[in-house]
Amino acid sequence: MHSALNVKMIKLIVANWKMNKTVEESCLLANELKNLLKNEKNVDIAVCPAFTSLHPVSKELKGSNIKLGAQNMHFENSGAYTGEVSPSMIKDLGCEFVIIGHSERRESFNEDDSLINKKLAAALRNGLKPILCIGENWEQRLNEETEDILEYQLLKCLSGIESIKDLVIAYEPIWAISKGNPNQKAATKADAEESHLFIRKVISGIYEEETAKNVRIIYGGSLKPENAKELLSMPNINGGLVGNASLNAKSFAEIVKAAK
Ligand code: PEP
Repeated sequence: MHSALNVKMIKLIVANWKMNKTVEESCLLANELKNLLKNEKNVDIAVCPAFTSLHPVSKELKGSNIKLGAQNMHFENSGAYTGEVSPSMIKDLGCEFVIIGHSERRESFNEDDSLINKKLAAALRNGLKPILCIGENWEQRLNEETEDILEYQLLKCLSGIESIKDLVIAYEPIWAISKGNPNQKAATKADAEESHLFIRKVISGIYEEETAKNVRIIYGGSLKPENAKELLSMPNINGGLVGNASLNAKSFAEIVKAAK
């Protein structure tokens, strides 16, 4: 294995608020985070509120060190797609990031790798930084298919995409995602590191080794203050995608502080 494939880079910690919080609650949380994290340097921080809160949170975070992301988008910029939101619309609201292919969207909204591929290409075309979520379910892990699944998802999702300079990959083992259960166990640091290193190896096969060294691979799945330090100190883990623990300002701030 290419153990020297990674380079030390500034970590990225992203909050995925999922379908939680009204506009007022979102602004309150953003305001608390702005205050708690105002002195944090050498770490990149982003929050991904629901679509309805993107604009007000964008205003709340103006001038702060916290960036904005969306949780999803369509791949077209406009048209007859009732209920959808486009890349140019989220960009217009100040989003720098967009989560693409989250396992909850794959499971509940039938998103497959070819749709995710279109969304990734559209995000990059529109100057957004996509956070591509990949990961195996429990059955696949038990059947020792983790690496096959990760490789398959990467090959399909990145098909035809020439530059991944702005791409972030989130390794999210589906079995570790809390679904709101604070007692859910995360992957061990050894298991997570093994998958991250494998992802980097696959990227070095598709692109140049230099690209693989520089791509950010962040971990998601029950990341919390109690386990953040050990997971985020692994050489191939370049940050975290945080669901449940990001709904509370103090716990998200602790995770951010553990990232340095
Ligand atoms: C997620 O679903 O992206 C996630 C990381 O959730 P949690 O932290 O709640 O496991």
